[in-house]
Amino acid sequence: MSPGLESAQTATSEAFYVSAAKIYPREVQGRFNRIRRLAVVALLGLFYGVAWLQWNGHQALLFDLPARKFYVFGLTLWPQDFLYLALILIICALSLFFFTALAGRLWCGYACPQTVWTELFIWIEQWTEGSRAQRMKLDRSPWNLRKIVRKGGKQLLWITLAAYTGFTFVGYFLPIRSLGALLLLGSLGGWSLFWVFLYSLATYGNAGFLREQVCKYMCPYARFQSAMFDHDTLIISYDAPRGEPRGGRARHTDARALGLGDCIDCTLCVQACPTGIDIRQGLQYECIACAACIDACDQVMDKVGTPRGLIRYTTEHAQQGRPQRLLRPRLVVYSLLLLAMSGMLVFSLFTRVPLLVDVLRDRNALYREVHGDLIENSYQLKIINEDNLPHRFRVEATGLEQLQVAEPLRAIPVAAGSVINVAARLQVPAEQAQGVHSITLRVVAEDEATLSVRERSRFLGPER
Ligand code: SF4
Ligand code: SF4
Repeated sequence: MSPGLESAQTATSEAFYVSAAKIYPREVQGRFNRIRRLAVVALLGLFYGVAWLQWNGHQALLFDLPARKFYVFGLTLWPQDFLYLALILIICALSLFFFTALAGRLWCGYACPQTVWTELFIWIEQWTEGSRAQRMKLDRSPWNLRKIVRKGGKQLLWITLAAYTGFTFVGYFLPIRSLGALLLLGSLGGWSLFWVFLYSLATYGNAGFLREQVCKYMCPYARFQSAMFDHDTLIISYDAPRGEPRGGRARHTDARALGLGDCIDCTLCVQACPTGIDIRQGLQYECIACAACIDACDQVMDKVGTPRGLIRYTTEHAQQGRPQRLLRPRLVVYSLLLLAMSGMLVFSLFTRVPLLVDVLRDRNALYREVHGDLIENSYQLKIINEDNLPHRFRVEATGLEQLQVAEPLRAIPVAAGSVINVAARLQVPAEQAQGVHSITLRVVAEDEATLSVRERSRFLGPER
């Protein structure tokens, strides 16, 4: 290879790969920071707390995959109840569309797990390594005891938090109390340990190191959220006509007389930005709408004595001085769909009967002639008691005159959340049984008449 070609290739690869510069977000105080802190505390409190809640003798929220049962606050969902899960997922997606169209990236700025855990990890970083300037100075300084203690303390806290997060996450899929006991005894199985380790590693890596890179390069939502925006969606924006031309000035000088705008070019909004962008360059896809730049700039405006809001929540129409519309077609469509799906979910949950019955006709014999000039068909019934209480069931059959259940099936005990198989034989006098008949089998709880399910089947007799 010629030296010229080699150097050209090196130059190309350098142009294609630029390592990301480390971002040291500046801590800011302000109203949006308070809201975000509140959201972080509430969401993390829910995540770490709900895993330990008990409900009717079960973990309140448990996705028990090995047993194929989901416990959701007193409701036990089975694989057959997939409809509810599908509805919940559709409602979550529609809510995301609705709130994005209404108020931009609210989810990213205040509720996304990446934001929430990154915020928590940054709090730890600030606590162990100090302010932005102190963190930058510490990184530049040579390794010494102070640096080892500060960096080591941060890593120890991060790893502990990440491990507890991984453990809690897996605790939503395996009962957390048993998981904790097994972990303490050192007898946690290979796969459980693997998942705890994997989720701990994901938390540690994403919140500790990748941070804004997840939002910029890995998150699919960042790519398509602009499709949900319109000219009346709330965005965080710099008021360029008011702020420009930017530039430093002495305190209490008349900026207008100097031909300057309100931006004093202090760069605090850039320093506060967790994704390292400059909002003054316009709306950028890297902006997660955390509003840290608003808080930073409002503090500056307070100090220099100009009105707040140089960076603020606004809309494109408001920026252009055009009328704003809250009710837009897409919002109406999203909210109608959201209402319909939520109504469907609530209705189906309220009318849900926690009993499932499968009827399987015995295919080995079309029919049997039995003593007493009767025609008999056999069936296998699978009774699934999805309730949290045990019940005793009876089986009834209708649809054909003088149809009866041979050896009446009564008081069949089925424990809570259990499945049993029952053999049922139905009989009809021979003169009634000729041909093919549609019949109905009803399984009903003897202690609760509303707990009943009807299943259709066929009764076969001799040809006419
Ligand atoms: S530009 Fe402002 S709102 Fe956007 S990510 Fe940066 S600090 Fe947050
Ligand atoms: S914080 Fe406000 S004043 Fe300072 S650079 Fe940013 S926009 Fe300008």
